[in-house]
Amino acid sequence: MKPLSYEHCQAMDRQDPLRGLKEMYQLPEGLVYLDGNSLGALPKTTQSRVTQAIQHEWGTELIRSWNSSGWFELPRKVGDKIAQLIGAHPGEVVATDTTSVNLFKVLATALSIAAADSPVKKKIVSERSNFPTDLYIAQAICKERGYELVLVDIQEQELGSVLLDDVAVLMLTHVNYRTGAMHNMREVSELAHGLGVLTVWDLAHSAGAVPVDLHSDGADFAVGCGYKYLNGGPGAPAFVWVHPKHVGRFWQPLAGWWGHIAPFDFSPGYVPSSSITRFQCGTQPILSLLALECGVDGFISAQELGGMHALREKSLALTDLFMRLVDERLTPYGISIVTPREPEGRGSHVGLVEREGAYEIIQALAARGVVGDFRAGDGEQYPDILRFGFTPLYLGFSDVWNAVDHFHKVMQTEEWRHSRFAHKNAVT
Ligand SMILES: *Cc1c(COP(=O)(O)O)cnc(C)c1O
Repeated sequence: MKPLSYEHCQAMDRQDPLRGLKEMYQLPEGLVYLDGNSLGALPKTTQSRVTQAIQHEWGTELIRSWNSSGWFELPRKVGDKIAQLIGAHPGEVVATDTTSVNLFKVLATALSIAAADSPVKKKIVSERSNFPTDLYIAQAICKERGYELVLVDIQEQELGSVLLDDVAVLMLTHVNYRTGAMHNMREVSELAHGLGVLTVWDLAHSAGAVPVDLHSDGADFAVGCGYKYLNGGPGAPAFVWVHPKHVGRFWQPLAGWWGHIAPFDFSPGYVPSSSITRFQCGTQPILSLLALECGVDGFISAQELGGMHALREKSLALTDLFMRLVDERLTPYGISIVTPREPEGRGSHVGLVEREGAYEIIQALAARGVVGDFRAGDGEQYPDILRFGFTPLYLGFSDVWNAVDHFHKVMQTEEWRHSRFAHKNAVT
C-alpha cells in the first residue's frame, strides 16, 4: 500500500460531510485535542446559556425559577435527550449525580431483584480491567451486603463458564477505558439472561461515542458519564437508565426526597416515584445540568446529518487512519496498538503501548499542542497506556496526521527524555 500523505488527509477533510460541526465548539487555535474521551470540548453555547441562567433565572427570578424556568424537570429533560443517543425511550433516563453514585444505586437495585428471584445468588461478576471506580463501588456493595465480587479476564476466560447459578449481576463497561475494546452488548446480554444473570452496563466511553441500543440489545441497567463525549463540562452530572420492567420493583438505597413520588408533600414516609426519577437523590445541580444540556444539544443538532450513525462512521475512519499512521511511522520506535482492529470490536479511542516512557511522551506531545492522556498499568498484567480519543464532532483527518507527525518527531529526536517531562502531575 502507498504510504499515506498529508494531502490525502486534507482530501478526506474536504469530503467529510460532518466537517462543519466543529464550528459549534470553542477550541484553542492550533491545538489537536485527543482527550474528548476524558473531558469533552466546550460548546460555544454553554457560556451564554449558563450566564443567562445565573443572571436572569437565579439573579432575578430566584426561587420562582424552579417552576418558571423548568429547573425541577431539568434532570428528566436532559435525560430524554440523552435517551435518544442510547436507544432508550422518553421518561427512562435521568441526568443526575456521578457515574460512581449511579452505579451504586443500580447495582443495589439489581441485587435486590436477583435476591427476590433466588436467594443463592451472592456474586457480582466483572472484568479485572474495568475502570477502578466501578470495581470499588462493587466491592463496597459486596462488603455491605455480604456478596462476593468475582473478576474475570474476558480475553482468557469464557464468560459463560463463570456465570454460574450463584451469580446475580454481570457488571461491565461497554467500551474499555484503556484499550477501547467494545463488548457486543446483545450477545453478552443474551448469554447472561440465558443463565439467569442481570446486566449492568457502564456507558462512560460509549454515550456520544458509539451508537448504543439499550432496548434492542437487552440491557437491564445502564449508567454513563456527562463530561466525556457528551461535552457537559468538568464534573458534569452523569446519567442513569433502568429498564422499565425493573424500575418499580425495589427502592434504590439513596432514597432522598427528589426520588419521592411527591417531594413537595413533605410527608415523613418515603414513597418512591414510580418512574426513573426515583433514581434521583437530593437537589440537582442546575447550572451543571444546563451546561450538560448544551453538550447533549450538539448531538441533537448532528441528527440532521445522520446522528450517531454518521458520527460513528467518521469516528471509525479517524481511528482507522490513526492506527494506519501509527503502523507506518511509529512502530519502528517500539510503539504498539492495544485497541482491537475490527470496527465492531472497538469504541472511539485508541490505546498505545510504549514500555519505556509512556508518561513522558504524553507530556512531550502536550508541549507540542497534541493532547492525549496517560493511564497507568498495574505493573504486571496491564502495561501503561498512551490514550488518544477521537471525537468526530470536532476533529478532522488532518488533525490525525498532525498528531502522528508530532509524535514521530518526539520519538525521532528523543525529546521526551528531557527531565521536564518526567514530573508527575496529580491528574494524568
Ligand atoms: C470516567 C469513568 C467513570 C467516572 O466516574 P465518576 O463517578 O463520574 O468520576 C466511571 N466509570 C468509567 C468506566 C469511566 O470511564
